[in-house]
Amino acid sequence: MSHCFRLPRASARGNFVEKFCGKEDMEKKPLLGMTLGELQAVAARVNLPNYAARQIADWLYKKKVTSIDAMTNLAASKRTLLAESYEIGAVAPAHFQRSVDGTVKYLFPAGPGNFVESVFIPADGRATLCVSSQVGCKMNCLFCMTGKQGFTKNLSANEILNQIQSLPEHDELTNLVFMGMGEPLDNTDELFKVLEILTSAYGYAWSPKRITVSTIGAKGLKRFLDESDCHLAVSLHSPYPAERLSLMPVEKAFPLRGVLDLIRQYDFSHQRRVSFEYIVFKGLNDTEQHARTLANLLRGIPCRVNLIRFHAIPNVPLETSDLQKMEAFRDFLNAKGITCTIRASRGEDIFAACGMLSTRKKEEDAGKRFPQKEK
Ligand code: SF4
Repeated sequence: MSHCFRLPRASARGNFVEKFCGKEDMEKKPLLGMTLGELQAVAARVNLPNYAARQIADWLYKKKVTSIDAMTNLAASKRTLLAESYEIGAVAPAHFQRSVDGTVKYLFPAGPGNFVESVFIPADGRATLCVSSQVGCKMNCLFCMTGKQGFTKNLSANEILNQIQSLPEHDELTNLVFMGMGEPLDNTDELFKVLEILTSAYGYAWSPKRITVSTIGAKGLKRFLDESDCHLAVSLHSPYPAERLSLMPVEKAFPLRGVLDLIRQYDFSHQRRVSFEYIVFKGLNDTEQHARTLANLLRGIPCRVNLIRFHAIPNVPLETSDLQKMEAFRDFLNAKGITCTIRASRGEDIFAACGMLSTRKKEEDAGKRFPQKEK
């Protein structure tokens, strides 16, 4: 049984109605999500010295204030000036569901009528947040509910970072994975601003080792490999091009072999890690032949393979593989020297598959009945 709650409309961290319906606020730019360079431009605009940008960053990302007026080392007149054009831009989640296993799925507002999902996963001394990067997605993977929504928009750096900063469990977080709705490397400009804020001394000062960006292999991959030290996860799902294409249209524009050739040019043998995600579908990609071909394909790349159970979604004729088959697949890869684990399935009772809850919210708002989750 899951527990579903609607959060109060107003909260200390912001008010959805004010943010999206208040004319005055709509014209204000959010400071949350701005890099130091952008804050320096803001400081210049209100005639603050350049060093004030660091002070503002400190209030935003270290002290996490919820009002510009709380930035007390800025002159009161400057705070007033700042507040005429800017706001903090932190918005509380509009809705959440808590699983019996402790996983919590949040819906964050992302512009009028839009919501994105963030999933908080506490486990084994870690507390991981799965973050979304787009409303919907262009990639249309067969097995994905977000893909079925189509693409609405890229999230801004503010909307991405807000999922992290306005998370009720923010102070518990140990790890972030960009594995939620959307393809993060299809939104590289905003993603990179967020990664900069998360890992810079002026921002959260997190180690990049706490952050994993997951991709199906989009065009922003080379930039990510060149400019970031964060871990990489690649959604693989089949070692055979035609079969992978039937699951993931991206295979046509960015074939897996090209993605692997690119990855081989970078060092994943020390601090930075690469992993491959493999959803195991019954009778489709769970044979020993698949495991053998996969092992050959990944030869020479120091990596881990994560086997993932499939969360059924409506109107998609795919099923998750049997545990016995998954264990055999795992054991085969391990015997070939490739570290392989079966990822524990979390939050199945709260529509934890990517895109399920936001689709349900849209259906509810449109007055339609959402189909029951398939067992
Ligand atoms: S799996 Fe990822 S890339 Fe594919 S449609 Fe879903 S969100 Fe987009």
